[in-house]
Amino acid sequence: MKPTLVLVGRPNVGKSTLFNRLTRTRDAIVADIPGLTRDRHYGQGRVGNKPYLVMDTGGLEPVIKEGILHAMAKQTLQAIDEADKVMFIVDGRQGVTAHDKIIAEQLRKSGQKILLVVNKTEGMATAVVTAEFYELGLGDPCAISAMHGDNIQELADLALVDF
Ligand code: GDP
Ligand code: MG
Repeated sequence: MKPTLVLVGRPNVGKSTLFNRLTRTRDAIVADIPGLTRDRHYGQGRVGNKPYLVMDTGGLEPVIKEGILHAMAKQTLQAIDEADKVMFIVDGRQGVTAHDKIIAEQLRKSGQKILLVVNKTEGMATAVVTAEFYELGLGDPCAISAMHGDNIQELADLALVDF
C-alpha cells in the first residue's frame, strides 16, 4: 500500500502549490486508483522507489462560534484520521498565527504523525525562519518554498522515512 500524505493548514499557506510539486504534474490524477480518478485533490508521487499518495485539503476556516472542536471541517478531520502522515503547512512570511495554534492543537489531539512544514521561505535563513514555529509543539519544522521548489526533495524524503 502506498502511504497517504495529507496536506492541512489554513487558507493561502501554499497547500495547493505544494500538492502540485509533490505530484509533479497538474493532472497527476491516476487511472489505476479506483475511486480516486475523478477527485482532483488526490495525486501521486514517488521518491526513489517509494510511491506515495498526496491529498490536498481545504475547508479549514475555524468556526469560532462552535468552538475549537469545529475548527476543522469534518471532511478534513476524517482525512487526517485516515492519513498515514499529515503535513501541516504554515507560512514562514506571516509567522505563527492564532489559527495555526488552533490547527496545531487539533493535530496534537489526533495522535497522527505530523510533519510541520514552513513554506514561503525562499531567500530566508532556515534557522531564523523556523525558530518561532517550535512553539507549536510539533517538533522540528522543515523549511521549503513550494513556489520555487526549494527543499521539496528533502521534504518528501522526510515524510516517507517511516514507510
Ligand atoms: P492554499 O490556499 O493553502 O492551497 O495556498 P495556494 O497554494 O493556493 O497558495 C496561496 C498563495 O501563496 C498563492 O499566491 C501562491 O502563489 C503563494 N505561494 C505558494 N507557495 C509559495 C512560496 O513558496 N513562496 C511564496 N512567496 N509564495 C507562495
Ligand atoms: Mg488550495
